[in-house]
Amino acid sequence: MHKYIIMGAQGCGKGTQASMLKRAYDLIHISVGDILRWNLQAHTKLAARITRIMAGGQLVPDEIVEEIVRRRLDEHDWNYGFVLDGFPRNRRQAEFFLESYDIDAVILIDVPDEVVLQRIQARRLCAACGLDYNLMFHRPAQEGVCDMCGGGLIQRSDDNDQAVRGRLQDYHEKTHPIVDLFRRKELVVVVDGTRAPREIHDEIRQQLKLKIASEMQTT
Ligand code: AMP
Repeated sequence: MHKYIIMGAQGCGKGTQASMLKRAYDLIHISVGDILRWNLQAHTKLAARITRIMAGGQLVPDEIVEEIVRRRLDEHDWNYGFVLDGFPRNRRQAEFFLESYDIDAVILIDVPDEVVLQRIQARRLCAACGLDYNLMFHRPAQEGVCDMCGGGLIQRSDDNDQAVRGRLQDYHEKTHPIVDLFRRKELVVVVDGTRAPREIHDEIRQQLKLKIASEMQTT
């Protein structure tokens, strides 16, 4: 069983690394941001409460995201474990989590703010299937068109400059300090997020002493 939290500023590559871990170890990837965006697209009751907050790059109220995480984990479909991406984002959420669940490691992806700002400007999302692109290192074959489904590529509404800076400030003030809470429990591994996704993935595996899939089959 692998139970991980993946943390880092926006654009640090959390989603990419969570997907790679998911594929390699058959984990469930729980992205709170994706679940919230799904609610916006589906115009759920919750959407009315969170649309403005999210467009402004602010944090959604703790009780809402805690309930989302609780419900998702209560589904118990994570036979081999899970990667929690985008949660916890402040001390209260971290304490809520530690009271109810245990965790094997917190993976912190470290990226300087200047790199975050460049990456976010280049970030695109397929409006149809949700696949992520980055015009710096993962360009679509045809400009503005998703390679997978032919959908149109858009910028996330909260990737505007003001919202991005607000989210970075929240990250430094509220999210990064909770790393110490997990560090006291000796759970944190830090990886340099400025390298290629494959190299970052390999370093995560090394630091967590994880076997690669081929090794798992032969032992
Ligand atoms: P993300 O996709 O992780 O960048 O999250 C997108 C947005 O969803 C954030 O800017 C917040 O508005 C909201 N959000 C995601 N996770 C949380 C969380 N743990 N606590 C509060 N708001 C969150």
